[in-house]
Amino acid sequence: MPTPSSISRSEPVIAVIGGGPAGFFAAVTAKEAQPSCRVTIFEKSSRVLGKVKISGGGRCNITHDSPDPRELAAHYPRGHRELIGPFTRFGAPAAAAWFTDRGVPLRTYPDGCLFPVSNDSQTVIDCLTGEARRLDVTVRTRAEVTSVVATDAGFALTLASGATARADRVLIATGGRAVAGPLHGGYALAASCGHAITPLVPSLFTFKVDDDLLQGLAGIVVDPVRVRGVGHRGLAVQDGPLLITHWGVSGPAILQLSAWGARHFHDCGYRFLVAVDWLPQFDQHGQDEALADLATANKSKQLKAFGPWKLTRRLWVRLVERAGLNPDQRWGDLGPRQRAALSAVLKGTQLAVSGQAAFKEEFVTCGGVPLKEVDLRTMQSRLTPGLHFAGEVLDIDGVTGGFNFQSCWTTGWLAGVALTGTGSEDV
Ligand SMILES: Cc1cc2nc3c(=O)[nH]c(=O)nc-3n(C[C@H](O)[C@H](O)[C@H](O)COP(=O)(O)OP(=O)(O)OC[C@H]3O[C@@H](n4cnc5c(N)ncnc54)[C@H](O)[C@@H]3O)c2cc1C
Repeated sequence: MPTPSSISRSEPVIAVIGGGPAGFFAAVTAKEAQPSCRVTIFEKSSRVLGKVKISGGGRCNITHDSPDPRELAAHYPRGHRELIGPFTRFGAPAAAAWFTDRGVPLRTYPDGCLFPVSNDSQTVIDCLTGEARRLDVTVRTRAEVTSVVATDAGFALTLASGATARADRVLIATGGRAVAGPLHGGYALAASCGHAITPLVPSLFTFKVDDDLLQGLAGIVVDPVRVRGVGHRGLAVQDGPLLITHWGVSGPAILQLSAWGARHFHDCGYRFLVAVDWLPQFDQHGQDEALADLATANKSKQLKAFGPWKLTRRLWVRLVERAGLNPDQRWGDLGPRQRAALSAVLKGTQLAVSGQAAFKEEFVTCGGVPLKEVDLRTMQSRLTPGLHFAGEVLDIDGVTGGFNFQSCWTTGWLAGVALTGTGSEDV
């Protein structure tokens, strides 16, 4: 097995497995750090950066306006503690500056998301592939790596075609994919080098809900709501917009809950109860008072006359019915028990989730190479010296908002510097 000190420092041969954002960022960083190193990206498909192309609805939400490493790391259900250090070394401002300096001006939107000013993910692809070309990184497409073996002389790689290659250092940046069955792709390569793989399940999904309450209401957005998984203790509540869809519920609040609860929800077969607080601006007492005030001010009006607190009338009527009340009833006729029933529904409508569905096909993977098996200063394996990891193959995933690419830029950069062996162990 090679040790970092036994590897030739003058012209190290570096194999990057995976032509996604993490692999490209690492390859370019390595070449910039040490131009004499020889870097080859092995990509199994016919084109590189495929996910970047379709990301952010074709616009590529490249990172998030979150300069504080702790605050940034808090957006990662897997990695929120471990990423603070890496983000301190190469965080969101560094990533944004990297692209801006290389001709990709970015725009920050009010929700904190950064996109290229061009609003076209191709700009990001052109930047990364252009940098790789300029720095003389070799890119081999249709080159699936099927085995990586540590030898006395570095690493021996075998490709699906049967071809072989040798490298002093190897980066596995093969991305994520939660599919049932035996380990595949980069996970299998990592496992063959001694790594355990934290079980893989999807994250970032919408909830299928078949409930009369939502029938015919698709398209309605309630902002904000507070959602929580009923009976999933230890799972934080999530605040944000909720979108009613044709098949259930979606929107940032739901996606965040899906990410933080990815493993819980998988383990219960995606059958669980979610409670929606439609008026999180009130605590229970405040809401009771507000309902009493509303009843006093609108005595002669029917409940169905208007939707209070920005709730659309159609949704409001459904909530009234869910509370067992008649929408034709007048506010002034509501007794304390009826008000309490309405209040209970507004504070915690329970919806039975019966499955999950992709959010614009934007699944990310929860699980992967455990972070405790990786030195997060260099992204080097603690088990196989000279082997590094970056991107979604690691047990890291973020919520939506540019966080998943940011972890690729960060881990790719750290790995890229370290892969050259130019004092990288001190990074
Ligand atoms: C539809 C969609 C939209 C998204 N939008 C955003 C967004 O706007 N912002 C954001 O932050 N995140 C977004 N994400 C998440 C983001 O795309 C991923 O987290 C990110 O692409 C992971 O990068 P990666 O380099 O680790 O892996 P990948 O992008 O998956 O790249 C890995 C590459 O490795 C190749 N590969 C795999 N195995 C092998 C092998 N054995 N040999 C050779 N090559 C191999 C694959 O073909 C692939 O090209 C989106 C995801 C999806 C699916």
